[in-house]
Amino acid sequence: MIARVIELCLRCGAEMEWRHGTWQCPKCRFKIGCCEGECPND
Ligand SMILES: [Zn+2]
Repeated sequence: MIARVIELCLRCGAEMEWRHGTWQCPKCRFKIGCCEGECPND
């Protein structure tokens, strides 16, 4: 069930892009880490 997953930015509602293992918003640069909210590697 991983086909066609679209994540919406929690901050501005834009469609987020999957990059480097995290969801990133192209508009406000909000990022969802690998642990849903925070990424210890960043
Ligand atoms: Zn955003």
